[in-house]
Amino acid sequence: METIYALSTAAGRAGIAVLRLSGPHARPALEALTGGKASVPREAMLVRFRDPETQAPLDRGLAIFFPAPASFTGEDVVELHIHGGRAVVAAMLRALGQLPGLRAAKPGEFTRRAFENGKLDLTEVEGLADLIDAETEAQRAQALRQMEGALGQLYEGWRARLMRALAYAEAEIDFPDEEVPGDLIARLGPEIAALESEIGVHLDDGRRGERLRDGVEVAIVGPPNAGKSSLLNRLAGRDAAIVSDEAGTTRDVLEVRLDIGGVPVTLADTAGLREAAGAIEQEGVRRALARAEAADLRIVMVAPGAAGIGDGFALARPDDLRVLNKVDLGAAVPAGVIGISALTGQGIDALEAALAARVGSAYEAREHPVITRARHREGLGDCAASLARAGAALKAGRDAELVAEDLRLAARALGRLTGRVDVEDLLDVIFRDFCIGK
Ligand code: GDP
Repeated sequence: METIYALSTAAGRAGIAVLRLSGPHARPALEALTGGKASVPREAMLVRFRDPETQAPLDRGLAIFFPAPASFTGEDVVELHIHGGRAVVAAMLRALGQLPGLRAAKPGEFTRRAFENGKLDLTEVEGLADLIDAETEAQRAQALRQMEGALGQLYEGWRARLMRALAYAEAEIDFPDEEVPGDLIARLGPEIAALESEIGVHLDDGRRGERLRDGVEVAIVGPPNAGKSSLLNRLAGRDAAIVSDEAGTTRDVLEVRLDIGGVPVTLADTAGLREAAGAIEQEGVRRALARAEAADLRIVMVAPGAAGIGDGFALARPDDLRVLNKVDLGAAVPAGVIGISALTGQGIDALEAALAARVGSAYEAREHPVITRARHREGLGDCAASLARAGAALKAGRDAELVAEDLRLAARALGRLTGRVDVEDLLDVIFRDFCIGK
């Protein structure tokens, strides 16, 4: 096994930087860098790092040695806490590159080794990736929970129950004469039904976990000049913390990312509705409408015109937030409508509170861990379909072999979620998104 090394902290100038090594040569490498100083397990050692060839001093810092298997990867791991200057990091990386048996790590390679050594299952690996990417409190809480194994334990628990049911069906196949007829149905029927129902409830979660991970979509819709862009700018100005231009955003839809009560919100102004002259702009309008249609929440905005607000809310659906803008011009605010002025800031607090109430209540942590990726949803869908077939075969009095085969497929679908079975093809996809040093 090769020993890998990488800068685990972000690249660039900083107070400190952490280099990480994993593999059988990690400890000899540390000793070579410290002039033969003995490595004490799991203790921060203040050391002088030297060029292993010339013995020229490179930096002074901390070194920690984590002997296998009690380390992140399950291998011998060394962490070097050095000063975060570019030249210091470059010199240390150069020194590491000269040592025998060491090579630079590929993206996600530390975590992949942790997975391969049974330190993390795949859902925990995904939780770790999400924790690193988390921008808001609710995302952080969800990712941490998954990294600590809540989702993996749920799936493993179901899989263990399926394996027991399968063992029972297999016993029936191997020793058919020893069982009383009908016993298989009595023993397996309720368990299959219970699993189907639990998985069904887990799947029927309104995609909360996935939405929290991706960001909740809120669209501002309304006629031209209602003040949609003005509101977007005002909200963005207040919550500038994570305002960013999303990659792949078309110019038809202006959007900003906000942190509303700990939940990441992508707020889109369907600007394309404004001018619909040419074919390209019509395409913009189509996209803007589709976007508003697909949004998790819509803010329907109206502003008083020459004839008041008329039936401006005619198109609003019951769960849309209704907003009357330009209250600074003196229009009366109807019941059930939030009056704001994007110009003066009046009513923006109330609008934000209403947004936070809608968004926050939908995504607050619940008792059970939630699905956070399409991959989970697909696997659980496969599992549920196999379970349904097993249940039907059982009821129809089919051979135990047929029931067993579907139970096996259902268990395999769950096993793929945690990485217990045939996941080779999946691994590249999952680890590809990691950065080097993770
Ligand atoms: P959009 O077409 O819906 O995006 O509307 P804009 O945000 O571009 O605003 C249209 C016009 O209304 C601009 O001239 C704004 O300055 C003005 N406007 C926006 N919000 C307010 C408001 O709260 N009060 C007043 N008096 N004018 C506003």
